[in-house]
Amino acid sequence: MATINADVLIIGCGIAGGITALRLADAGIPVVIATRSQDPAESNTFWSQGGIIFEGQEDTPERLAKDILAAGAGLSNPDAVQVLAENGPRLLEDVLINRLGIEFDVEGRTLSLAREGGHSLARIVHVADATGKAIEVKLIQALKEHPNVTLLTQQTGIDLITSSHHSVDRLQVYAPLTCVGAYFHDRRTREVTKVMARATVLATGGLGQIYAHNTNPLGARGDGQAMAYRAGARVINMEFVQFHPTTFVGANGARFLITEAVRGDGGRLVHADNTPFMDKYDAVWKDLAPRDVVARAIYQEMLEHDVPYVYLNLRDYITEDRIRHHFPTILQRCADAGVDITSELVPVVPGAHYACGGVWVDEWGQSTLAGLYAVGEVACTGLHGANRLASTSLLEGLVWGDRAAQHLKANLHLLHQPDANNYPDWEYADGGAPDPALIGQDYGQIKALMWNYVGLVRTTQRLERALRELRRFEQEIEFFYRTTHLTDGLIGLRNAARTATLVAQAAWTNRTSVGCHFRE
Ligand SMILES: Cc1cc2nc3c(=O)[nH]c(=O)nc-3n(C[C@H](O)[C@H](O)[C@H](O)COP(=O)(O)OP(=O)(O)OC[C@H]3O[C@@H](n4cnc5c(N)ncnc54)[C@H](O)[C@@H]3O)c2cc1C
Repeated sequence: MATINADVLIIGCGIAGGITALRLADAGIPVVIATRSQDPAESNTFWSQGGIIFEGQEDTPERLAKDILAAGAGLSNPDAVQVLAENGPRLLEDVLINRLGIEFDVEGRTLSLAREGGHSLARIVHVADATGKAIEVKLIQALKEHPNVTLLTQQTGIDLITSSHHSVDRLQVYAPLTCVGAYFHDRRTREVTKVMARATVLATGGLGQIYAHNTNPLGARGDGQAMAYRAGARVINMEFVQFHPTTFVGANGARFLITEAVRGDGGRLVHADNTPFMDKYDAVWKDLAPRDVVARAIYQEMLEHDVPYVYLNLRDYITEDRIRHHFPTILQRCADAGVDITSELVPVVPGAHYACGGVWVDEWGQSTLAGLYAVGEVACTGLHGANRLASTSLLEGLVWGDRAAQHLKANLHLLHQPDANNYPDWEYADGGAPDPALIGQDYGQIKALMWNYVGLVRTTQRLERALRELRRFEQEIEFFYRTTHLTDGLIGLRNAARTATLVAQAAWTNRTSVGCHFRE
């Protein structure tokens, strides 16, 4: 069995994992960073559109903090909000602009600033409507060129290795729970690699793919949340799954997010007869109300009017020139699916978009397990509370990626290099290869039940039904997992089932409607 010994192991190379790696590598600390996908840029980060918070004219950290706290519905962690508001804009300039050379759009001689839902002023910088791609491509390039970075692709994390669970010395069960690395499934060779590390940073992103309708890429299956939970880390606020109001519904089956910036620019939600409806739900913010308000309004309108979707109207509110200039990616992707957004209404439904909860971490990204950090969407700093303010997540990944790196730089000498001989090699199951049809069927059922029972509007009856079915799925899948050969699909199915159960359980336990968790 292949074994790798690392100082720091980072799992996931979106903005959060990538920035952690870059900051450590720049400080002279060698890192191993691994991703399950073939193209290291494939991530939620790559697909993010609208932009990232910087600083508006006459903006202050206090003003940004106030907007984040308002969106978080009283459940944001004030310390995390302060950390982001005070450090975010400076780090954006230092790391994204100066270190990576991201060329954000400019107007005249200053950065072009957009306004999105819940923001009291324009403060979002962007690269047209493909901001995440611009960041991720440069970040991966910098990691590939760095002598202190070993970048591994097509390596799916299976489970974290802890001293208490895995050590051959059974007495380790009495020692504090400590993470010492992870097992990885190599998608090319199908073999398992053991990566031992003094510190492990989980940066595996979100969980949108546990829902039938979502905006996330295929890899966002909640792998990290499930791995951390199994290892014994504290996982919190899982009921707070944010649904993006506007996922494009193509007649050809195409689904992708239409950024909020479209509504920030004046676009309005309407019915087929072009009647706007958001004024009924929020007289002040209207189409720019917080995401959960807009998403539930659409859900309600769909029920009341018995329609499978509503529409976004850009054509009557945004000039054609501005549409072409500001939203070229959306223009193209909709055109590919047969809709001309400069002259036609655009069909949209809400989709699962962002996980506000996750692996509990402190202001330096430390989880409750010694040796385990978590950064980005897989983590819960408490910043978003019960609901996320638009465009805060890329910045959170940047800020906590930097802070985890700072903390590691100062404390790595206190963590011991684990001895690989004390940890067993992977035991391969001797059953055959898993049937992909079974994996697809189970996964599809989990996604459908999450959408119907643990979606935008939750009831006790729906949640109890979801939990019963998920427990049955988990049992079946665990048996399957232990008796057949590993594949990326099987690992993902096991994790999706666990993470779905974590969301359903948290939603069932929390009887109060708050933020993006709505109990009827
Ligand atoms: C369509 C869309 C638009 C968005 N727009 C915005 C926006 O405009 N502004 C904003 O601030 N936020 C936006 N977001 C949210 C934001 O993109 C994410 O929250 C953020 O990028 C998460 O970064 P991350 O580094 O935590 O995770 P990701 O970028 O998702 O990276 C996760 C990494 O983990 C890897 N991985 C996953 N599982 C495993 C495993 N088992 N083993 C190994 N590797 C694994 C993945 O391959 C990937 O490399 C958007 C999200 C989407 C989906």
